Amino acid sequence: MNPAGKPGKQGALMPVEEALERLLAMAGSAPILERERLPLAAAQGRVLAEALISSLDLPPWPNSAMDGYALRLEDWRGEPLPVSQRIFAGQAPEPLQPGTCARIFTGAPVPAGADCVEMQENAQVQDDQRVLFSEPLQLGQNIRPQGQETTVGEEVLAAGTRLGPIEQGLAASLGCAELEVVRRVRVAVLSTGDELVEPGQPLGPGQIYNSNRVVLCSWLQRLGCEVLDAGILPDDLAATRQRLAELGEVDLILSTGGVSVGEADFLGIALREEGELALWKLAIKPGKPLTFGHFRGVPVIGLPGNPASTLVTFALLARPYLLRRQGVQQVQPLSFQVPAGFVWPQPGNRREYLRGRLENGQAIIYRNQSSGVLRSAAWAEGLVEVLEGRTLVQGDRVNFIPLSEVLD
Ligand code: AMP
Ligand code: MG
Repeated sequence: MNPAGKPGKQGALMPVEEALERLLAMAGSAPILERERLPLAAAQGRVLAEALISSLDLPPWPNSAMDGYALRLEDWRGEPLPVSQRIFAGQAPEPLQPGTCARIFTGAPVPAGADCVEMQENAQVQDDQRVLFSEPLQLGQNIRPQGQETTVGEEVLAAGTRLGPIEQGLAASLGCAELEVVRRVRVAVLSTGDELVEPGQPLGPGQIYNSNRVVLCSWLQRLGCEVLDAGILPDDLAATRQRLAELGEVDLILSTGGVSVGEADFLGIALREEGELALWKLAIKPGKPLTFGHFRGVPVIGLPGNPASTLVTFALLARPYLLRRQGVQQVQPLSFQVPAGFVWPQPGNRREYLRGRLENGQAIIYRNQSSGVLRSAAWAEGLVEVLEGRTLVQGDRVNFIPLSEVLD
């Protein structure tokens, strides 16, 4: 068995955890500090800039969880009780008259003096309109206490929480019409490669269509970023320098391609000249080479150009980096262990992220795991993680990262 991260020809490979740790440390030291106030409905996908503190008790008063009758337990002695008031949701009740019950509906405030609610199914209305409760009653039953969800002054959502429908709902329930969020991260997307042509154009000899551009632009939009599409960069040093210099104010330059140590790594050369550059060889497959650097102070992440490599490195490294820049703490996708529905006889020295699916509770993988095959990911529901040095037989447990966890 290969030891994890066994040194290759060009030195030791950097473990995925270490690359992530370094990226997150750099993201943490360059947080986006500007904020904006947005209407609640526009805050979807954004990150809370300050904790959401409850200004209310929720619910503000004890209310009924059932359609039924509110009464005082003490008054229940096996005799029917007269109904002294009817309370609908949205009404303010009178205090309960001793020795009576109140007709009450779900969500209506429980009148002062009542301490339990019996559901209407367990209540028999007599001919004289008095109500008999035949089942045993318990103190507090079917009453949602005041403040059961939250009380005044409590932190309901922490700063750095990403806002989705549920968080928006919570804010709405507290009466917030606007939320203070971190401004969008501005990301310039560059596709590098002389071979690239945009869809809609004719393909010349040796050319392929640029797929990474739309993958990253649309993904970044889903992540709540402001995307500056910087087009295709030819494999040429002067053009690279010029294009980088022309990019307006952005928080990150994200490029694909040209990061292998090949001769066409003009991005690397430009960064070395006008900033700094780290070239990492990661113990990850697909996607070994990754660039991290700065161009005139602006962070640059260079992802490998093969479509599946771009996908995996964006999902596992660039996405967490972007979230951390916005102050998100929980940047790692949720994953779970499932039995492998495939065999893996050859241990590798890189951690593999196979494009896979769940079938009958087992992970199965796409037949072609080439880093050039984006269809593997379109077919897949998740990434199946196979650790360095591991072999697998059917039924061995593997980590499964649902793509839905990383796509937005
Ligand atoms: P590179 O990292 O530039 O050596 O590219 C690695 C492989 O990915 C090559 O086969 C490229 O043609 C391909 N590739 C690079 N960029 C893109 C892109 N934007 N869209 C599709 N394929 C790409
Ligand atoms: Mg290239």
